[in-house]
Amino acid sequence: MKSYIVGNWKLNFTVGEASIYLHKLQKKIPNYRDIQVVVAPPLVALQPLSLQVDRHKLKLAGQNGFYRDFGAFTGETSFAQLRGLVDYCIIGHSERRYILREDDKMVQKKVAGCIRNKITPILCVGEIESERAFGETADVIRDQLLGGLRDVSEEDITKVIVAYEPVWAISGHGSAKLATPDEVAEVVALIRGILAELYGGEVAEGVPVLFGGSVNPSNAGAYLTVPQVNGLLVGGASLILGEFVDIIEVAKRVKS
Ligand code: PEP
Repeated sequence: MKSYIVGNWKLNFTVGEASIYLHKLQKKIPNYRDIQVVVAPPLVALQPLSLQVDRHKLKLAGQNGFYRDFGAFTGETSFAQLRGLVDYCIIGHSERRYILREDDKMVQKKVAGCIRNKITPILCVGEIESERAFGETADVIRDQLLGGLRDVSEEDITKVIVAYEPVWAISGHGSAKLATPDEVAEVVALIRGILAELYGGEVAEGVPVLFGGSVNPSNAGAYLTVPQVNGLLVGGASLILGEFVDIIEVAKRVKS
């Protein structure tokens, strides 16, 4: 399976800055066959960047989308509108779950909306610090996965990526702690087990599972060598071109 390195730019960069970054990134990376580089720019930059992106080198992702395709939903942008601009979309990111109050029901509809519009959802799951402290991590992950995947058939699960992002390890929000590779391994094995219960072991094996949480060039190798981890979702470090390129190069080294 390919490794995925996904940069989540969150609410950063003007359209001009995003365009300059993409231009420089494309000059710095070759066309990797076994690494899929993805960047998730802010919504306003997606249309211009979709004309600029070299899709042999990298793909674009949305950071969010609305679950209905068209209609009276002021301020929303649907996956039907994102279709053609992006290949992936981050769904259920903890910043949307906890700041924007998105629940599993909404996440479920958004995952379905992506698949309906031929966009690969990157479904984020992860526990907050107190849930881990109270031993609730497994229950939280199970609820979020079952909720998000409720409408996803055996055929469609092959079009989904799952990202494990312990909320307490995401920079700027939590405890300033880093997840250890053992902690990541335990939850990723749990995710694989739940996917196997839902879709069978062979199908579950084919679903990419990424890790995210304060990834940088120094720790990327350790996370990428955790068994059954197929890539990284990178927030803060993806805003610094040199760091993002270094993480991609670490992934290349780990792969070979
Ligand atoms: C994220 O928000 O998806 C993330 C992983 O952020 P950071 O790398 O900054 O912790």
